[in-house]
Amino acid sequence: MGKGYDRMMVVQREVADIGGALSLLGWDQETYMPRRGAETRGRQLGTLAGISHTRFTSAEMGAAISEAQSETLTPDEQVNLREIARSYDRSRKISTELVKDITETSSVAIEVWREARQNNDFPAFSPWISRLVGLQKQVAEAIGYTDEPYDALLDEYEPGASTRDIAGVFETLRDPLVDLVARIRHSGVVSRADFLECEFPIADQERFGVTVSRQMGFDYDAGRLDVSPHPFCTHMGAQDVRLTTRYAPNLPTQSLFGIIHEAGHGLYEQGQDPVFEGTPRGSSVSLGIHESQSRMWENMVGRSRAFWRFFFPRFVDTFSGPMQGVSEDEFYAAINRVEPSFIRVEADEVTYNLHILLRFEIERGLFAGDIAVDDLPSVWNAKMETYLGIVPPDDRQGVLQDIHWSHGGFGYFPTYTLGNLYAAQFYRAAEQDLPNLEDHIARGELLPLRDWLREHIHRPGMTYRAGELVQKVTGTPLSASYFLNYMQRKFNALYRL
Ligand code: ZN
Repeated sequence: MGKGYDRMMVVQREVADIGGALSLLGWDQETYMPRRGAETRGRQLGTLAGISHTRFTSAEMGAAISEAQSETLTPDEQVNLREIARSYDRSRKISTELVKDITETSSVAIEVWREARQNNDFPAFSPWISRLVGLQKQVAEAIGYTDEPYDALLDEYEPGASTRDIAGVFETLRDPLVDLVARIRHSGVVSRADFLECEFPIADQERFGVTVSRQMGFDYDAGRLDVSPHPFCTHMGAQDVRLTTRYAPNLPTQSLFGIIHEAGHGLYEQGQDPVFEGTPRGSSVSLGIHESQSRMWENMVGRSRAFWRFFFPRFVDTFSGPMQGVSEDEFYAAINRVEPSFIRVEADEVTYNLHILLRFEIERGLFAGDIAVDDLPSVWNAKMETYLGIVPPDDRQGVLQDIHWSHGGFGYFPTYTLGNLYAAQFYRAAEQDLPNLEDHIARGELLPLRDWLREHIHRPGMTYRAGELVQKVTGTPLSASYFLNYMQRKFNALYRL
């Protein structure tokens, strides 16, 4: 029989192996699978997910977990037990019928959403939002929550976070950001970005992106970079981490910052302790913490002056044609241009969070019953006007733009802004520990930061929940002030405010 803990870990590792196989199949589906392979692949993914779910939620697993709960465990083992028991409880609380209902409803809803977006037809999609919200309310009731149903949904992506706490932090972010965007709009400073629309050969874009990510410490013997329509990072283990990006000849910054972003995620996975592979102790904390890694590298490092002090001459060397006569200052201003726009995924560093705040407030209102589904377009547009000073000309560029709601992904959006806030707070702590950080970056030495992140954030795996990790690494609870200071310092200088 053995210890309950050991039996629990046998199942856990099997489930993790199936998870790795699922990731690989999913990665292949997005990169190399021929189009007609989709149906078979869908079935294979479903079969494996089903086997994994049955194995994980078995009575045998339940018995092993409860035995483990009365055994004497090391601190690392306690982390595994805590997280495995949490996942087990969550998946046992949601009935098989409800899971099936959600899967079936969202597979239709995604298609309805695609068509509705194309035809700019919100009324065609709205009954499906109502159904998906209804199903997610059932999930929330099944799992349970402290203050409001939205807590249970948020908990799926950001374990331990509370809606009220996050709303409080976001509240302190909103007005200063709205104000900064308005001041930038009225600054009269307009930077040129015409050269970024010239032809940048794709092979050179790839070479440059690989060079930068290698310099960040991304290990290509334990990872690779491929092409997919929607960039992502996935992993089969810490020694097999896959990044993807997309290239367009006249959008060199899309692939470059995309690669830096995904490599930031990739470093988090490669930085896990191999001893704990396939266990929570060797896994990332939450989506928000994951996003803090990608956004720190993409924005705080990749769009910084220091970074381009080193990389600009190399960029000009690689792309001598389109970059002819462009100064470092002009380039720096162009990659940091702020301009309110309708589409979230195209938004700049400053306006991006206002797109997220809008979605968070709407989702929270939907689940609290304060916002009716039919009113979504008008609520959306009113908030766009208040926050960004622009109103989408149609729902395609407004409430219908994101895929998330069509598969019931409510509670996901706030993790993007949490990522930005965590990133700024962690970066401040890194600067205090590494007083010459900026000088290092300006010399192209990116490993001191990578090593600091590895020690403080990657290696601990799931030892701490997001809130605890922030407190432990930075000495204070999550606060928007670090991010606001960073924004103001950077953009006051850029826009001479
Ligand atoms: Zn990301």
